[in-house]
Amino acid sequence: MKDKLVRAITPNQHVRILACTTTQLVEKARVQHDLWPTSAAALGRVLSVTAILGSMLKSEKEKVTVQINGGGAIGTIMADANHKGEVRGFVGDPHQYLKYNDSNKLAVGLVVGNQGYLKVIKDMGLKDQFAGQVELVSGEIGDDFAYYFTVSEQTPSAVSVGVLVDTDYSIKSAGAMIIQIMPDALEEDIIACEEAIKNLKPISELVAEGNTAEDLVHIVFPDAEILGESELAWHCDCSKDRFKAALTTLDRKDLEEMLEVDHGCEVKCQYCNSTYNFDEHDLQVILEFKAACGR
Ligand SMILES: [Zn+2]
Repeated sequence: MKDKLVRAITPNQHVRILACTTTQLVEKARVQHDLWPTSAAALGRVLSVTAILGSMLKSEKEKVTVQINGGGAIGTIMADANHKGEVRGFVGDPHQYLKYNDSNKLAVGLVVGNQGYLKVIKDMGLKDQFAGQVELVSGEIGDDFAYYFTVSEQTPSAVSVGVLVDTDYSIKSAGAMIIQIMPDALEEDIIACEEAIKNLKPISELVAEGNTAEDLVHIVFPDAEILGESELAWHCDCSKDRFKAALTTLDRKDLEEMLEVDHGCEVKCQYCNSTYNFDEHDLQVILEFKAACGR
């Protein structure tokens, strides 16, 4: 079953719901980065919410990047997504496997840490950027994004996100749901939301039971109207040309050293682990290009 995202609204237009299933894309991330369970759960949660943030973008040219660092052992978590539903990401340490002793659940909050920040950068193209940043609440990701939406985007929101990792480390299920209170909502809408969320089973369990993104919406708000549906997928748009452009920004001295000492260089994409080799000829072309530009 393909990963899907749906947008929905309650009949009175007071509550917006975005829900997605992300099992396939989180599994792709796990394989690409050789993620161990707690790292997989942490990155999977971030990827799932980032996918929803991508769907909120206004145009195809825009991109959203999420950066989280809570001072924990996992290091920095990065993810980005676009309007087409393409998502990618990575973590500092892919080999975290820690559980909470009492509940036996994956200790995401512990490996992420809660002494740090969650930053959202929306790149609108043409150098226009929006950046919002909040302090982390718990490092469990869901709470942290809820706080971000409420404080930084002034939209009171509840975020439910989860990843279920199987005994063989593969991803059994993953998904997310964001419930947002619209500006003209009434007290009773807020109470209805709180009630619905309080009784909600973990999203990863609901997805494991076979519920689709649309089902997730209707479990919480049976009469919600589905406004749209789109596919989500793991995708990295890196290419040799992009890295060539990045190399062009390096100092001549560094490029000359790569050419004369190392006779080439290998560049690795942090998002997907693809490697690109630049041989002596490639580096010479870059140096000639810089010289032609007077750099
Ligand atoms: Zn890549």
